[in-house]
Amino acid sequence: MARPRPSVDELVAGLRAGDRGVLARAITLAESRRVDDRALAQEVMARLLPEIGGARRIGLTGVPGAGKSTTIEALGVWLVEQGHRVAVLAIDPSSTRQGGSILGDKTRMQRLSALEEAYIRPSPTSGVLGGVARRTREAMVLCEAAGFDVIIVESVGVGQSEAELAELVDCVLLLLVPGAGDELQGIKRGIVEVADVIVVNKADGDALRLARRAAGDYRHALRMLPEATPGWKTPVLTASAAEGTGIAETWATIEEHRAHQESTGGLERRRAAQQLRWLRAQVEEAVLTAFHGREGVAEALREAEDAVAEARATVPQAAARVLAAGFGDSAPETT
Ligand code: GDP
Repeated sequence: MARPRPSVDELVAGLRAGDRGVLARAITLAESRRVDDRALAQEVMARLLPEIGGARRIGLTGVPGAGKSTTIEALGVWLVEQGHRVAVLAIDPSSTRQGGSILGDKTRMQRLSALEEAYIRPSPTSGVLGGVARRTREAMVLCEAAGFDVIIVESVGVGQSEAELAELVDCVLLLLVPGAGDELQGIKRGIVEVADVIVVNKADGDALRLARRAAGDYRHALRMLPEATPGWKTPVLTASAAEGTGIAETWATIEEHRAHQESTGGLERRRAAQQLRWLRAQVEEAVLTAFHGREGVAEALREAEDAVAEARATVPQAAARVLAAGFGDSAPETT
């Protein structure tokens, strides 16, 4: 049986009090398939929006095995020791998780997840409504409202997801590992191009020298690439998440990036641009869904596809028929 739905006031009060149970509930409502659940979550967020905006929003990416969870554990525990409250969220674009580790899995961050001052939310199971980015954005707002001042968004660096990650956070931290030989380790340039800070992890034991050399190589390679943050040269550090070295330096670099963004107005611009793109994407997504939901559109689309495949119509002609099916007389021009 479903639990009784809390009121907006109860949720707002619980979040303001930093109650992790209420936070979990609020995120679940925001992710719900039910319209009334989501509307409730939106009301809560609307109430809290004026109070938030100060948290550090950090994205962490890297290929599986690069040491993301180990880094979050080390950095997170260290941040809590420094007096911060740390939330960890995950974006996992893959619908299948077999073979890969579950991002944000608490068993991989045992020390951190045991702390009162930390909140870890694994990536939602597939089938939850809305895009991963949207869900993460809303979870970020709610975490911030609950007093978490550092929000780490974990994402697998395997392709598209880093562009999405850069749309969510103020600073993208890319984890690399030494010894792959190839300067960019087969990592698509796209990942490196959105990185505001690069950390070569596993700089310990026999790999220490290799890590330092790799860091030098990356510094060199970065000179050819456009800056992820205008006016900011992406620093390349070395660290060992396992041994805890380089953690304080990593944080100091994230703070330098923050100071740079604040002094140039870049932070405000970045967040404003993210919000605007999100707004536009929401409108466009809704318009598309509504259009495709109109009677006759699916059928007209199938017919148009056949007509194009069989060379019975030009593409603009076929498109016009689909639009006419959905919009009738007010269909927009296609040519
Ligand atoms: P993720 O898939 O990116 O989250 O990577 P994990 O944090 O799960 O780490 C993958 C493996 O690398 C694990 O066996 C870790 O123990 C190991 N590892 C992570 N960080 C370090 C490090 O700094 N040094 C060494 N030597 N091993 C590490």
